[in-house]
Amino acid sequence: MDGVLADFEGGFLKKFRARYPDKPYIALEDRRGFWVSEQYGRLGPELSEKAISIWESKNFFIELDPLPGAVEAVKQMANLADTDVFICTSPIKKYRYCPYEKYAWVEKHFGPEFLEQIVLTRDKTVVSADLLIDDRPDITGGHNPDNTSLTEQYRLIPPRQLSKTEIENSADDAVQEQEEEIKFNLVIAT
Ligand SMILES: [Mg+2]
Repeated sequence: MDGVLADFEGGFLKKFRARYPDKPYIALEDRRGFWVSEQYGRLGPELSEKAISIWESKNFFIELDPLPGAVEAVKQMANLADTDVFICTSPIKKYRYCPYEKYAWVEKHFGPEFLEQIVLTRDKTVVSADLLIDDRPDITGGHNPDNTSLTEQYRLIPPRQLSKTEIENSADDAVQEQEEEIKFNLVIAT
Protein backbone atom coordinates (compact mmCIF):
# COMPACT_ATOMS: atom_id res chain seq x y z
CA MET A 1 0.00 0.00 0.00
CA ASP A 2 2.52 2.55 1.15
CA GLY A 3 4.41 4.22 -1.66
CA VAL A 4 2.50 2.22 -4.29
CA LEU A 5 -1.18 2.79 -3.59
CA ALA A 6 -1.18 5.09 -0.55
CA ASP A 7 0.76 8.36 -0.34
CA PHE A 8 2.83 7.50 2.74
CA GLU A 9 5.42 10.24 2.09
CA GLY A 10 2.87 13.00 1.56
CA GLY A 11 0.78 11.94 4.54
CA PHE A 12 3.85 11.69 6.73
CA LEU A 13 5.17 15.15 5.85
CA LYS A 14 1.80 16.82 6.44
CA LYS A 15 1.43 15.27 9.90
CA PHE A 16 5.09 15.73 10.86
CA ARG A 17 4.91 19.46 10.11
CA ALA A 18 1.60 19.79 11.98
CA ARG A 19 2.92 18.02 15.09
CA TYR A 20 6.44 19.47 15.06
CA PRO A 21 6.08 22.90 13.41
CA ASP A 22 9.37 24.18 14.84
CA LYS A 23 11.47 21.21 13.75
CA PRO A 24 13.36 20.94 10.47
CA TYR A 25 11.84 18.71 7.84
CA ILE A 26 12.72 17.20 4.48
CA ALA A 27 10.73 18.41 1.49
CA LEU A 28 9.38 15.62 -0.71
CA GLU A 29 11.74 16.51 -3.56
CA ASP A 30 14.70 16.17 -1.16
CA ARG A 31 13.71 12.76 0.22
CA ARG A 32 16.32 10.10 -0.51
CA GLY A 33 16.36 6.41 0.26
CA PHE A 34 13.58 4.06 1.31
CA TRP A 35 13.56 4.72 5.05
CA VAL A 36 12.12 8.08 6.15
CA SER A 37 13.39 7.59 9.71
CA GLU A 38 17.01 7.16 8.56
CA GLN A 39 17.10 10.41 6.60
CA TYR A 40 15.40 12.30 9.44
CA GLY A 41 17.91 10.78 11.86
CA ARG A 42 20.72 12.28 9.82
CA LEU A 43 18.98 15.67 9.96
CA GLY A 44 18.85 15.74 13.76
CA PRO A 45 19.52 13.30 16.61
CA GLU A 46 15.94 13.20 17.90
CA LEU A 47 14.17 13.45 14.56
CA SER A 48 14.22 9.75 13.75
CA GLU A 49 12.12 8.96 16.84
CA LYS A 50 9.80 11.86 16.12
CA ALA A 51 9.33 10.66 12.55
CA ILE A 52 8.49 7.13 13.71
CA SER A 53 5.96 8.53 16.19
CA ILE A 54 3.98 9.92 13.26
CA TRP A 55 3.20 6.58 11.59
CA GLU A 56 2.75 4.85 14.93
CA SER A 57 -0.12 7.23 15.73
CA LYS A 58 -3.81 6.49 15.42
CA ASN A 59 -5.38 7.38 12.06
CA PHE A 60 -2.06 7.75 10.21
CA PHE A 61 -2.63 4.86 7.79
CA ILE A 62 -6.38 5.20 7.33
CA GLU A 63 -6.04 8.90 6.47
CA LEU A 64 -3.41 8.43 3.75
CA ASP A 65 -4.57 9.66 0.35
CA PRO A 66 -4.36 7.30 -2.60
CA LEU A 67 -1.54 8.07 -5.03
CA PRO A 68 -2.92 9.60 -8.25
CA GLY A 69 -4.37 6.94 -10.52
CA ALA A 70 -3.46 4.07 -8.21
CA VAL A 71 -6.94 2.91 -7.26
CA GLU A 72 -8.17 3.08 -10.84
CA ALA A 73 -5.09 1.16 -12.07
CA VAL A 74 -5.62 -1.68 -9.59
CA LYS A 75 -9.29 -1.96 -10.51
CA GLN A 76 -8.33 -2.16 -14.19
CA MET A 77 -5.69 -4.81 -13.51
CA ALA A 78 -8.12 -6.82 -11.40
CA ASN A 79 -10.44 -6.89 -14.42
CA LEU A 80 -7.78 -8.30 -16.77
CA ALA A 81 -8.49 -11.82 -17.97
CA ASP A 82 -6.79 -14.66 -16.07
CA THR A 83 -5.27 -12.24 -13.61
CA ASP A 84 -5.47 -12.26 -9.84
CA VAL A 85 -4.45 -9.12 -8.03
CA PHE A 86 -3.46 -9.17 -4.38
CA ILE A 87 -2.46 -6.33 -2.12
CA CYS A 88 0.57 -7.53 -0.18
CA THR A 89 1.36 -5.21 2.67
CA SER A 90 3.72 -5.24 5.64
CA PRO A 91 2.33 -3.80 8.87
CA ILE A 92 4.62 -1.95 11.23
CA LYS A 93 5.58 -3.89 14.34
CA LYS A 94 3.73 -1.48 16.60
CA TYR A 95 0.44 -3.15 15.72
CA ARG A 96 -2.12 -1.21 17.76
CA TYR A 97 -3.52 0.74 14.79
CA CYS A 98 -1.69 -0.19 11.58
CA PRO A 99 -3.11 -3.63 10.61
CA TYR A 100 -6.70 -2.56 11.29
CA GLU A 101 -6.24 0.68 9.39
CA LYS A 102 -4.69 -1.06 6.38
CA TYR A 103 -7.78 -3.26 6.07
CA ALA A 104 -10.02 -0.23 6.58
CA TRP A 105 -8.10 1.68 3.87
CA VAL A 106 -8.64 -1.10 1.34
CA GLU A 107 -12.34 -1.30 2.20
CA LYS A 108 -12.65 2.49 1.95
CA HIS A 109 -11.06 2.75 -1.50
CA PHE A 110 -11.82 -0.63 -3.11
CA GLY A 111 -14.93 -1.85 -1.33
CA PRO A 112 -15.47 -4.74 1.09
CA GLU A 113 -15.12 -7.43 -1.60
CA PHE A 114 -11.46 -6.48 -2.06
CA LEU A 115 -10.68 -7.43 1.56
CA GLU A 116 -10.33 -10.97 0.20
CA GLN A 117 -7.28 -9.83 -1.75
CA ILE A 118 -5.18 -8.63 1.18
CA VAL A 119 -1.98 -10.47 2.12
CA LEU A 120 -0.63 -9.12 5.39
CA THR A 121 2.95 -10.23 6.00
CA ARG A 122 6.27 -8.81 7.09
CA ASP A 123 8.03 -11.35 4.84
CA LYS A 124 6.92 -10.83 1.26
CA THR A 125 9.16 -13.66 0.03
CA VAL A 126 6.60 -16.20 1.29
CA VAL A 127 4.09 -14.95 -1.29
CA SER A 128 4.01 -16.70 -4.64
CA ALA A 129 3.37 -14.47 -7.63
CA ASP A 130 4.49 -13.80 -11.18
CA LEU A 131 4.86 -10.08 -10.78
CA LEU A 132 5.44 -7.79 -7.86
CA ILE A 133 4.96 -4.05 -7.91
CA ASP A 134 6.81 -2.50 -5.00
CA ASP A 135 8.64 0.67 -4.05
CA ARG A 136 11.14 -1.17 -1.86
CA PRO A 137 14.20 -2.33 -3.79
CA ASP A 138 15.72 -4.78 -1.29
CA ILE A 139 13.04 -7.27 -0.27
CA THR A 140 14.52 -10.35 1.37
CA GLY A 141 13.16 -13.01 3.70
CA GLY A 142 12.99 -16.65 4.66
CA HIS A 143 11.76 -18.04 1.35
CA ASN A 144 14.57 -16.92 -0.86
CA PRO A 145 17.20 -19.45 0.21
CA ASP A 146 19.79 -18.37 -2.31
CA ASN A 147 19.55 -14.92 -0.77
CA THR A 148 18.44 -13.19 -3.92
CA SER A 149 16.09 -10.31 -3.43
CA LEU A 150 12.57 -10.34 -4.78
CA THR A 151 13.83 -8.00 -7.46
CA GLU A 152 15.63 -10.98 -8.98
CA GLN A 153 13.08 -13.66 -8.07
CA TYR A 154 10.07 -11.91 -9.50
CA ARG A 155 9.75 -9.32 -12.16
CA LEU A 156 9.52 -6.33 -9.91
CA ILE A 157 8.27 -3.12 -11.46
CA PRO A 158 8.88 0.17 -9.67
CA PRO A 159 5.45 1.78 -9.37
CA ARG A 160 6.45 5.08 -10.93
CA GLN A 161 7.34 3.34 -14.19
CA LEU A 162 4.15 1.37 -14.31
CA SER A 163 1.78 1.72 -17.20
CA LYS A 164 -1.13 -0.35 -18.32
CA THR A 165 0.87 -1.41 -21.37
CA GLU A 166 3.71 -2.72 -19.20
CA ILE A 167 1.32 -4.81 -17.14
CA GLU A 168 -0.38 -6.23 -20.20
CA ASN A 169 2.96 -6.99 -21.87
CA SER A 170 4.24 -8.67 -18.71
CA ALA A 171 1.10 -10.74 -18.52
CA ASP A 172 1.50 -11.74 -22.16
CA ASP A 173 5.14 -12.71 -21.58
CA ALA A 174 4.26 -14.82 -18.56
CA VAL A 175 1.66 -16.70 -20.53
CA GLN A 176 4.03 -17.29 -23.44
CA GLU A 177 6.77 -18.54 -21.13
CA GLN A 178 4.44 -21.19 -19.77
CA GLU A 179 3.42 -22.10 -23.34
CA GLU A 180 -0.18 -22.35 -22.25
CA GLU A 181 -2.71 -20.07 -20.74
CA ILE A 182 -2.18 -19.85 -17.02
CA LYS A 183 -3.65 -17.85 -14.23
CA PHE A 184 -1.50 -14.79 -13.77
CA ASN A 185 -0.90 -13.65 -10.23
CA LEU A 186 -0.18 -10.04 -9.71
CA VAL A 187 0.85 -8.70 -6.35
CA ILE A 188 0.56 -5.07 -5.51
CA ALA A 189 2.94 -4.64 -2.64
CA THR A 190 2.90 -1.79 -0.26
MG1 LIG B 1 5.82 0.28 0.18
